[in-house]
Amino acid sequence: MSQQLTIEPLGATIEVEDGQTILDAALRQGIYIPHACGHGLCGTCKVQVTEGEVDHGVANPFALMDFERDEGKTLACCATLVSDAGIEADIDEDPDARIIPITDFDTTVSRIETLTPTIKAIWLKLDKAIDFQAGQYVQISLPGIEGDRPFSIANSPEEISRTGELEINVRIIPGGAGTAYLHETLKVGDKLHVTGPYGRFFVRTSLNAPMIFMAGGSGLSSPRSMILDLLADGCTLPITLIYGQRNKAELYYDDEFKALAAKHSNFTYVPALSEDAAGFDGFKGFVHEAAQNHFNGDFSGHKAYLCGPPAMIEACLGTLMQGRLYERDIYAEKFITAADASKPRSALFKRV
Ligand SMILES: Cc1cc2nc3c(=O)[nH]c(=O)nc-3n(C[C@H](O)[C@H](O)[C@H](O)COP(=O)(O)OP(=O)(O)OC[C@H]3O[C@@H](n4cnc5c(N)ncnc54)[C@H](O)[C@@H]3O)c2cc1C
Repeated sequence: MSQQLTIEPLGATIEVEDGQTILDAALRQGIYIPHACGHGLCGTCKVQVTEGEVDHGVANPFALMDFERDEGKTLACCATLVSDAGIEADIDEDPDARIIPITDFDTTVSRIETLTPTIKAIWLKLDKAIDFQAGQYVQISLPGIEGDRPFSIANSPEEISRTGELEINVRIIPGGAGTAYLHETLKVGDKLHVTGPYGRFFVRTSLNAPMIFMAGGSGLSSPRSMILDLLADGCTLPITLIYGQRNKAELYYDDEFKALAAKHSNFTYVPALSEDAAGFDGFKGFVHEAAQNHFNGDFSGHKAYLCGPPAMIEACLGTLMQGRLYERDIYAEKFITAADASKPRSALFKRV
């Protein structure tokens, strides 16, 4: 059984299967609705129901408040249709966005490496080629765990098409069932179901401007894929990566970025350590402080791409906006977890 869903302002009508979420149906039929966490935590995919009835599913009560439910809002990533329906979504035109319908992949874990005491790299051998824009993420379904978990693709499109292996870098979250499974139970040879690609965190090449990437923790994943892709494509615009970790043991792929900076005169790498910086000759402090220091507080003319935990993104937004960047100059991917869902969203920035 299926129902019909009309999506405004596009005027498009799509089929939604029983039990299928609005977001899944839209993305599989090539219609983009803004989204981020994919399982009811962040509220990025909030839409207005204009007719018909929906089931809100597992929408977190902080991401979709009671008064919003009363006003007819719902979260497209968890809502299913009870009848034919219509929604109004906040869909922006983006000249750099490619329309890539999401696809299912059966994958086999081909390699697992410990990158740092808290981060593992996992390589998934895909059953078919994946088309994606560097910076996007996949959703992974884990045995016995409710809801999929989002992870950014950490290697470049070129490497994936050459090896057939998609890399994710996973930081373990204290008390988190999904990341505990990936760190402690998953082994080489296991099968995992993956869907993707998702998200709108990718380089706006049409803007043709110098780029600042700011990453914290495992938030290096997307910027790594984007930077490797840009450099492999022969990009000559200035690219700066400001990468923050707590201590030296957590600073993974450091040698790779140093080697890239030595090879490409347009690429600058600025690592920063916030806690234990003993024996470290780079910047001591947080990512936003390292950026402030490196650019002397003036970022004008740049486009910024931020990726990492919510607190890092908030701090970077403040610094960039004080340093003469506007909302239109900044793109962010916030690595939200269930614990972050109950906290207020950014007052600085409507897309985060
Ligand atoms: C677009 C996107 C891309 C991402 N990419 C990456 C990546 O490349 N690498 C990476 O490491 N991470 C990434 N993340 C973050 C990653 O998805 C999460 O860390 C992961 O989903 C956590 O799953 P979990 O099951 O371990 O923890 P969760 O179930 O999310 O729980 C996290 C914490 O919240 C607590 N908690 C659970 N329920 C509640 C509740 N109702 N109220 C309060 N606290 C609660 C848990 O006890 C735990 O301490 C990304 C996130 C997003 C949104």
